Amino acid sequence: MSIKLMDILGQTARMAPELRPRQSSQCSVAIIGGGFSGCMLAAQLLRRDPSSSVTLVDPAPVVGLGVAYATTYASHLLNVPAGNMSALPDDPEHFVRWAQLNYDSEVEAEDFLPRRVYGQYIQSILREEERRSPYRLQIIREEAASVVQRDGTARVILAGGQSITADKVVLALGNFPAGSHRLSGMSSAGASFISHAWTFNAFELQEISNKESVLLIGSGLTAVDLVIALRAHEFTGTIHILSRHGLLPKGHTDGNTVCAAWENEFPRSMRDLLRLVREQIEIEQRHGRDWRSVIDSLRPCTSQIWQSLPIAERRRFLRHVRAYWDVHRHRIAPVISAQIDSEVAGGGIQLHSGRVTGCGEERDAVVVSYRDRKTGETRKICSGRVINCTGPETDCRKVASPLLHNLLGQGLVRPDPLFLGFDVAEDGALIDSSGLKSNFLYAIGPLLKGRHWESIAVPEIRVQIAELAAKLTDSNPKMPEIFEPADASLF
Ligand SMILES: Cc1cc2nc3c(=O)[nH]c(=O)nc-3n(C[C@H](O)[C@H](O)[C@H](O)COP(=O)(O)OP(=O)(O)OC[C@H]3O[C@@H](n4cnc5c(N)ncnc54)[C@H](O)[C@@H]3O)c2cc1C
Repeated sequence: MSIKLMDILGQTARMAPELRPRQSSQCSVAIIGGGFSGCMLAAQLLRRDPSSSVTLVDPAPVVGLGVAYATTYASHLLNVPAGNMSALPDDPEHFVRWAQLNYDSEVEAEDFLPRRVYGQYIQSILREEERRSPYRLQIIREEAASVVQRDGTARVILAGGQSITADKVVLALGNFPAGSHRLSGMSSAGASFISHAWTFNAFELQEISNKESVLLIGSGLTAVDLVIALRAHEFTGTIHILSRHGLLPKGHTDGNTVCAAWENEFPRSMRDLLRLVREQIEIEQRHGRDWRSVIDSLRPCTSQIWQSLPIAERRRFLRHVRAYWDVHRHRIAPVISAQIDSEVAGGGIQLHSGRVTGCGEERDAVVVSYRDRKTGETRKICSGRVINCTGPETDCRKVASPLLHNLLGQGLVRPDPLFLGFDVAEDGALIDSSGLKSNFLYAIGPLLKGRHWESIAVPEIRVQIAELAAKLTDSNPKMPEIFEPADASLF
């Protein structure tokens, strides 16, 4: 029998009977999102407390992959060396050992392995924990549409109307899809404009004729992935890449980099921080090392630096420094970097910098005009296809997701002040629209960028996961904490 329920927004939702955890347990956790973050949190919860029950909710046909590790291309490599990709913070060699046993016995910590191999690694960890704690893990292949709390019990309501009850709910939604509104003028390109690179599949790539040229808008890691995939399909046409700064990700260098150690407190202004980093790079260079060692050395303290900066300075970073930070910090495997460099040198890739100003059609081609960053002149690029590689949207208010609309509508979540994700407390608990820390709703992974800035890659997320798992399996309830309400004018 289906149940009618009035949800908080005043709309009526049809619901089938709720799904209950399979066995009685000390703690039941529903995790929305079954990528790396969701799966590894599930594994950690099962490992720490074999009596806990976990429900993973994700519409993907297979859990554990998310966007990053679902790729089928062997040439899509991890952008972090194997030695730093262990999913378990207390066992740094775990991935290397797993890869030696399951992929190639010659794997070394410095190697950059295929991303699809990493997906298999995540799945194998989850399977192992499931085997050790049978019947404690439930995987539901459906989209979560909303979350409500009644009488101290949380309910995740699925797109199909069924619901799951749990003590705690964790949002592990990953990066939001690319914001196509950024390129809204491109709608006149019709079917030749692909609004989101990550939804573009191998079949569609094969359809691109070698006679055509392709324009990628955005020059970060997504554009690099597209270049690799196009060439894997033996696409021989020209690949134009256009972005505001025209900067491509730098490559890692082979071998170990020696990291600089920071002894002093970090300044609280962008100007002074930049000066400090530049000085440190000069010192490293005098010792025969390069900027990579300095950028890498900032990684363990990035969250601390970010949180100590006043909001205006963080905003300054996003406006003026981010594009440069991204290409130095989010580096690509040496072999990929060499391929991109040689394509740029040989003209296979043509790099343009400027802001898109318009789009039209001429015969069979799409013509995109842009204002050249250096000269200010209007230029045009003719291509057969245009693909949006501008990277994920970060403003949760602009994402077309029923779940986000519902959470925002109920006031259960609010964006962080810079619209990089959600506003969260130190332990990952969501902060609601009135500034109250939730006692049942948490987030992990890229949703926490506003708090930590560095919150999208495995080395940081695995620590968040271990900490949240420890918290959720700790039976001592904490009193709710009050946070400053957000500046209402921001929303
Ligand atoms: C192309 C690419 C390459 C990358 N390469 C690396 C790398 O080499 N090394 C590294 O450390 N990091 C890399 N990253 C960073 C990556 O973000 C993390 O490694 C990690 O995959 C993040 O996992 P996640 O689970 O937080 O997000 P995701 O893997 O994106 O998973 C989120 C999941 O949430 C699900 N979901 C969303 N909304 C709902 C809903 N309403 N209901 C139910 N389910 C929902 C989605 O279906 C998805 O499966 C890469 C990222 C990308 C995009």
